[in-house]
Amino acid sequence: MIPLFKVAMSDEAGDRVAEVLRSGRVEHGPAVSAFEDTLAARIGNPRVLATNSGTSALHLALDLLTRQHGGRSADGEVLSTPLTFEGTNWPILANGLRIRWVDVDPDTLTMDLDDLARKITPRTRAIMTVHWAGYLMDLDRLDRVLDDAQARLGFRPRVVEDCAQAWAARYRGRPLGNHGHLSVFSFGALKPLTCGSGGLLVLPDDDLHERGRRRRWFGINRGEDRATGEYDVADWGYRFYMNDVAAAIGLANLERVDELVERNRRNAAYFDRELAGIPGLRLTARFADHTPSCWVYPVLVADRPAFARRMHEAGIATSVISRRNDEHSCVASMREPLPGLDAVMPAVAYLPVGWWLSDTDRDHIVRTVRAGW
Ligand SMILES: *Cc1c(COP(=O)(O)O)cnc(C)c1O
Repeated sequence: MIPLFKVAMSDEAGDRVAEVLRSGRVEHGPAVSAFEDTLAARIGNPRVLATNSGTSALHLALDLLTRQHGGRSADGEVLSTPLTFEGTNWPILANGLRIRWVDVDPDTLTMDLDDLARKITPRTRAIMTVHWAGYLMDLDRLDRVLDDAQARLGFRPRVVEDCAQAWAARYRGRPLGNHGHLSVFSFGALKPLTCGSGGLLVLPDDDLHERGRRRRWFGINRGEDRATGEYDVADWGYRFYMNDVAAAIGLANLERVDELVERNRRNAAYFDRELAGIPGLRLTARFADHTPSCWVYPVLVADRPAFARRMHEAGIATSVISRRNDEHSCVASMREPLPGLDAVMPAVAYLPVGWWLSDTDRDHIVRTVRAGW
């Protein structure tokens, strides 16, 4: 079976971890700082915070945007997409906020920005967007929607960009994490860059970075506060710090990740060429100024059950990855009509596109799809 995912684990990771284990400092040692410095340099933004998962980074991002010292107003809502992994959306609930679903653009599988513009109101506390499957949303159009909201409502909603599947992606030549929003990466086992488990929050300004740094660890300033013993926590926080074992794995995997993601892109470009124009199959839109990570390869197919069966028989793993999040019973009270998503969900399937595909695998996938289902 050609797998849909594979763990991108470097052969060096074991030695790096062994060094940490022998060092006697396995949690708050120097590896996390070294990992953060390297990630900041790759992104080109020094305001990074490594966390123990992507989900905690999302939780912290929303917490920073919506919890002031006096608490949080009860009627706050976060505009978000239902076409994502549940890890995007449950942190909204965990922060005591309501989810208002925004429809999905069937051409890109990212947020429908016209629907977003319609749904921004004085109750909007934040917007959660996702670069789904490692393909990017239109960040310039998003800026225009925010400009319009500011002109209309007198405030500019803040955006959390869920980049969990999009490490090494670039928008107009610049890495994600540089476009004025709070950006979150996941370093979970199946993501382009992995620590086993881990995440990263990238902040757009120094104030958010400093507040985030404290709230990541109980609201305590680890170095200075604890040295004196005379510390006060004015702004309580969480226990979201990354550990040194995870950081050591991440540092080892960082050395190869650009090359591997480039191989994902070459495979995707091959599919873009070879799968175009096949009856019953539609590709998503491509944009010259987007450099995606191509985590999986999305296609919209007629008769998806037959397509999935045919792929399985041919030894090609496909998946729907996640259920539409708005259909879970825990958010039943938040449902609303989403025609774009209704059109996408019965048709969307994901094909393997990652660095592990051989030329023979790629050919086999193309020939199988071309032969029909
Ligand atoms: C993986 C993922 C998350 C959660 O990240 P973890 O590191 O597993 O907590 C959130 N959003 C999306 C889109 C993801 O793919």
